[in-house]
Amino acid sequence: MPDEQRDFIPPAKPHIGDDEIEAAVRVLRSGMVVQGPEVAAFEEAFTAVSGTAHCVAVNSGTSALQLALLAMGIGPGDEVIVPSFSFAASANAVRLVGADPVFADIEPDSFGLDPDAVAALVGPRTAAIMPVHLYGHPADMTRLTALAERHSLAILEDACQAHGAQIGGKPVGSFGAAGTFSFYPTKNMHSLEGGMVSTDDAELARTLRLLRNQGMEQRYANEIVGANMRMTDVAAAIGRVQLGRLDEWTERRRANAARFDAGIKTVTVPPVAAGVRHIYHQYTVRVEGDRDGAQAQLKDAGIGSAVYYPTPIHKLIPYRHIDVDLPETDRAAAEVLSIPVHPSLTDGEIDRVIDAVNALEDLS
Ligand SMILES: *Cc1c(COP(=O)(O)O)cnc(C)c1O
Repeated sequence: MPDEQRDFIPPAKPHIGDDEIEAAVRVLRSGMVVQGPEVAAFEEAFTAVSGTAHCVAVNSGTSALQLALLAMGIGPGDEVIVPSFSFAASANAVRLVGADPVFADIEPDSFGLDPDAVAALVGPRTAAIMPVHLYGHPADMTRLTALAERHSLAILEDACQAHGAQIGGKPVGSFGAAGTFSFYPTKNMHSLEGGMVSTDDAELARTLRLLRNQGMEQRYANEIVGANMRMTDVAAAIGRVQLGRLDEWTERRRANAARFDAGIKTVTVPPVAAGVRHIYHQYTVRVEGDRDGAQAQLKDAGIGSAVYYPTPIHKLIPYRHIDVDLPETDRAAAEVLSIPVHPSLTDGEIDRVIDAVNALEDLS
């Protein structure tokens, strides 16, 4: 049996190659490892992805969300409308700044916030809406932006899974007052750990720079209360190498997804809205039946898969006292299954994934 037929295909495969290692070693040998020229260069380069005038690097995507909320002046007494069908960080960031997340249901096709559900939840304490571009498919920013304008609400985009996703050629992260990206190893590009806030607002960008560094622009001349959420120059150097390959990797993901779309017959493949550039952080099918069984069958065929996320945020311990009914969220949590779509898949591995999915049986 050739190796390819035996090897297990993992659901994600973070890339740390010679270029990343050399970049890290170069910065380490320079002796200047904390936030410096590499971070500044990474921020400048990332504006090409975010489509914004400014980018501010921090030490994680969660920090990016938290600092963006703080910079936007959101805190105790405020409500932020968020999807429950996301990674917990989306709601945690709201709680960490002392505000209250209000969970809205999603649209079944995009897995993003349902604008009608959001509209029904807007109240006197609503300060902002946080759409999450889950799996790399943009939320409906056209309708969400119109809604936010109608009610004078801010938008903070959680684009932590959506580096380079677009609607009508406009990148996510450029629709709201600010957007956030994560560079965790399993994301479409990484900096070991890291995050970025994108914004067109120079004032907001300056506040973010202060907040990540103890409120200092000049050393020991602290202007506001701030945290230490700086990115290291080692991380930024790795991020710059990865950024240089993001387009190529994204096109690979999209090409892999196109082959899945054409080849998979047994389960529901992910729809893509008109005019959208889906960047397939995940390729997520719906198994309308025995998902655990499907996952076990894939595993037997050597195919890794993963459920993002099995428990909606509103049912996790810190949030489950909040009484809401989110039928599309619950249905998605019960049905979704992400199969490998990463750019290192070979043609043979893609065929193996398609064959294994099409061989699934006893799903109902
Ligand atoms: C990964 C992720 C985050 C958090 O990013 P970290 O870098 O892990 O802190 C936030 N929101 C979503 C939707 C994510 O997928």
